[in-house]
Amino acid sequence: MPTGARRIVIAADTVLDGKGGVLHNTRIVVEGSKIIAIDAKAAPVDYDLRGKTVLPGWIDSHVHITWSFGPDGKNANQGGTTPYLTLQAAGNAAKTLMAGFTTIQSVGSAADIPLRDAIAKGRFPGPRILTSADALMGQGEKTGTPDEIRAFVRKQKDAGADLIKIFASGGMSRGTMTMSPEQLLAACDEANKLGLRSLVHAFRDAVRPAVLAGCTEIEHGLGASDDDLKLMAERGTYLDPQAGLLLENYMQHKAEFLAPPWFPEEMFPALPGLLTAHQDFLRRAANVPGLKIVYGTDALAGMHGRNEEDMIHRVRDCGMDAMRVLVSANSLAAEAMRMSDQIGSVAPGLQADIIALDGDPLKDITAVRRVTFVMKGGVVYKNVAAGE
Ligand SMILES: [Zn+2]
Repeated sequence: MPTGARRIVIAADTVLDGKGGVLHNTRIVVEGSKIIAIDAKAAPVDYDLRGKTVLPGWIDSHVHITWSFGPDGKNANQGGTTPYLTLQAAGNAAKTLMAGFTTIQSVGSAADIPLRDAIAKGRFPGPRILTSADALMGQGEKTGTPDEIRAFVRKQKDAGADLIKIFASGGMSRGTMTMSPEQLLAACDEANKLGLRSLVHAFRDAVRPAVLAGCTEIEHGLGASDDDLKLMAERGTYLDPQAGLLLENYMQHKAEFLAPPWFPEEMFPALPGLLTAHQDFLRRAANVPGLKIVYGTDALAGMHGRNEEDMIHRVRDCGMDAMRVLVSANSLAAEAMRMSDQIGSVAPGLQADIIALDGDPLKDITAVRRVTFVMKGGVVYKNVAAGE
């Protein structure tokens, strides 16, 4: 136990433990950056969060933290490194933390790395960041030979990547597979050899080959068949789908996003239908026994700090159980990141990532919008009265 580290006692009458359990009338004892005890008799109380719902800080498994609207108001897409965009990225990080997200996985851009490291050193507020650095873009033959693909994966690891991001198909509306099974195998296998997870952007026919290649997690997944989803459940492959925030954000910010070839005019009238398709997909996936569905929003320009909104879509529009959705952003997301021993639960020995909500999200999921308290690694970043 570190000596001299400040001890903080938090009183709570309702604690969701992040794994599906609920603790009542207890106190959480924090020392330094970690939770050291759950002890109803601990005193004196430093933060009285009775009347609130206390839970572990959330984890967003799919964010593009550096993506912002540029000085001209238009989507700056991959996130540049001009002073303006660098400051925007720092702002995105602060907004994300204040929304209750204490860890994010950014997938990814090399610009994430200095941001990740500066936040880890406490230079400014933001969530703990895991990043893929640059992603492997599937482009058929041009993706490279298996040896070239393996070299690309090693290059990301050398650059400081925490995981590998792979694009194995085109966009959500009708994109087809952009890598061969052999190329996918080279990418996922090399990541596994290096001890890194592989996250594969895949729709429709790209899902099954990515799962068979041994990837850790499928991003999006729209169009996967019931058999594909069953295969994922059998193999323990995580699914990271989206339920509405992403599509709504494109609709709300059409003027900012409109720019061929990635965001052509004809994409926008298709969005309402795609929104319904995503929600039907998630409803179907949620009914596949044993399928591990994590929480990831694909947060890009216009979405940072609103990461909680997709929880509302999942419960309200997809019929998912509120506790299941909350756990998907806590212990399940931590498990998918192989960080269960550090984050995702309220338990002794874990990082003191603790948030509080005004309201009960199990009864009214919109309570996830009302984050009144944020502690990350034992440091309090937000503590406001309800409604502020
Ligand atoms: Zn994405």
